[in-house]
Amino acid sequence: MAKRNVILITIDSLRRDFLGCYGYAENISPVIDGLAEKGVRFENVWANSGNTPNAFKSIMTGKYPLQEPGYGVFEKQDYLPYIFKKEGYRTIGIVAGNPLVSRYYGYGKGFDIFFDFMDKRESAIETKNSLSKITTALRHACKWISYQIGTSFYVFFISRLYELIRKGYGYDVWPHRFSYKKVISQLESTLNSNNWANCPDKIFMWLHFMDVHHPYGRPEGMSESICQCLHDLINFQDRANRVPKKRINVAITAKIRRMYEQSIRDMDCGLKELLSVLSRYRLLEDSSVFILSDHGDLLGEHGLLGHRRLLFNELLKIPAIVYEDESSGSDKVYREPVSQRDIYKLILLSKDRAVSKLIREPISYNEEIFSEMYCDEYGGMFMDGHKYFINLFKLDETARRLYSLVKGDKKLTYQQYNNQYIFSDLFDNVLDISQNGKLVYQDMFKILHQHIHKEQADRKIAKQRHLLRATVKKVVDNLKMNSKDKEQDMAGESKFASR
Ligand SMILES: [Zn+2]
Repeated sequence: MAKRNVILITIDSLRRDFLGCYGYAENISPVIDGLAEKGVRFENVWANSGNTPNAFKSIMTGKYPLQEPGYGVFEKQDYLPYIFKKEGYRTIGIVAGNPLVSRYYGYGKGFDIFFDFMDKRESAIETKNSLSKITTALRHACKWISYQIGTSFYVFFISRLYELIRKGYGYDVWPHRFSYKKVISQLESTLNSNNWANCPDKIFMWLHFMDVHHPYGRPEGMSESICQCLHDLINFQDRANRVPKKRINVAITAKIRRMYEQSIRDMDCGLKELLSVLSRYRLLEDSSVFILSDHGDLLGEHGLLGHRRLLFNELLKIPAIVYEDESSGSDKVYREPVSQRDIYKLILLSKDRAVSKLIREPISYNEEIFSEMYCDEYGGMFMDGHKYFINLFKLDETARRLYSLVKGDKKLTYQQYNNQYIFSDLFDNVLDISQNGKLVYQDMFKILHQHIHKEQADRKIAKQRHLLRATVKKVVDNLKMNSKDKEQDMAGESKFASR
């Protein structure tokens, strides 16, 4: 059977409900909506986790985030590029500067060509002048203002301060945003330099974009100072991950939503550029182009901003679209519940068959959707001499965990670290178990705990297998070294003898 190109486009932090094709009233994503109209749109997609390192485990290896110890690519056998490579594909991965999906976590494995832009730290606020130090200190010092006194006071105060610095010193405190332009230009130069346009092999490609991740874009009519101070606010709350004493002001949430919309507009333009590059290299022919996100983002819902260590539905309900040749799709909507793990299976199946044909039959029989995560804070990480922020490659059984199970129209969340259960509807409204949900709750409780125990066993096996492999490798390496030494000795002796 003739193979097909497979292109996976992941957009970090893209929420489903902000896209026109999923019912958003504003027209901010015409390109994505157009692709959805021509291709296949998955109506009911769940992320298997609420943040990057956990969700990408499911997208790229088809496993649950907690099925193996730690983040990253633990075993390459199930890793998408590795499988495609074994089938004779050329593989290319370009990941927009997100350390959580970099080479450090093993995401470079199986790719012929892989870029993660992690060779040098790029940041607009890294300027080594005293002013930047002052503003950084100010930002940290003002953190508590937003928690204690309230966000409106914080924005009022800090944005004016930033404005003064801008006007007085001409110093721009707007943070570095990773633009899609870098990914696309890297892709173009890679395709050019390798002459891939004339290559008969099929291609598996993974492109990851950070344009929708905070810091968000700056909408028209909003000052840089306001954007900057709202960015600080999001950043603080994302890291703190706790509800502030004073709820976020509604007017401020509205501003943040406008910024988020702008990020989607920017990304949508990026996709247009990307499609024209792909089409120029004839990579849209006999191809399946998957577009999905790793998780959503909180924009003031539940009193929170960002996306860390949480399993709210704003984070779990994601978009998934597959674009294929114009003729093959045409308004196909798949309504059954699927998770990122099902999309992983589809990505593999699309090597041989278009997704628009595959979905004529049910692609999964998910009655239950599990989402989960390790929720420990990140440590420090170095890569190519530069410091980044994570060093939790090997999380063990002591790591704190968070689980959720969605079944029908109910959700059960379990915080393993404090043994707390939350029984809710699909909008995270807490339900009274004693009212009418007792049997459902008991049933879900049982299912969730069976899942947790199975995963615990899986982690143990994965770890043992990993250790065994490492030991075998060590023994083989030693044997090789020994035989090399012997050869060298013999060569030395014969040299001596011939003298
Ligand atoms: Zn992410």
